[in-house]
Amino acid sequence: MKHAIFGYAALIAVSLSSASPATAQTAKAALKDQKGVDVGTVDLTQTPAGVMLRLSLKGMPAGERAFHIHAVGKCEAPFTSAGGHFNPGGQKHGLLVGPGHAGDMPNLHVPASGILEVEILNAAVTLEKGKPNSLFGKEGTAIVIHAGKDDYKSDPAGNAGDRIACGIIQ
Ligand code: ZN
Repeated sequence: MKHAIFGYAALIAVSLSSASPATAQTAKAALKDQKGVDVGTVDLTQTPAGVMLRLSLKGMPAGERAFHIHAVGKCEAPFTSAGGHFNPGGQKHGLLVGPGHAGDMPNLHVPASGILEVEILNAAVTLEKGKPNSLFGKEGTAIVIHAGKDDYKSDPAGNAGDRIACGIIQ
């Protein structure tokens, strides 16, 4: 009996693995601070509901930090190279004002340990190339973490202050 059950399970595993590779779309960003020190990663996965960002931070100063996708995939300290917020829809900044920029996301609350693991769904962007809201457009895109929190209303950047970490989405 046991043999038969194992055989069936193996058959299911094979059929799943042969179906999934074509549909799985993922990307990654390695976050560095202004001194070039590694402060974490973001793993991005395309889902039918948008792009899931799995953030894993370490050595980040405690407190509320703005977390955005910026419009240029270039991270040269002090990270102004990453441009403004990713905004293919030409919206004003801020989740309290309207739809906001596609790159606008909720603030991160970093605990005293400086370590944070969190998953955030961004329904306004896609990893699919060729779409206007694709994170893989001509200039690329970058993840940026700011020194301050996003007030969710001040245009164009939520009054979030300096850019303390940056990672190119690739
Ligand atoms: Zn914005």
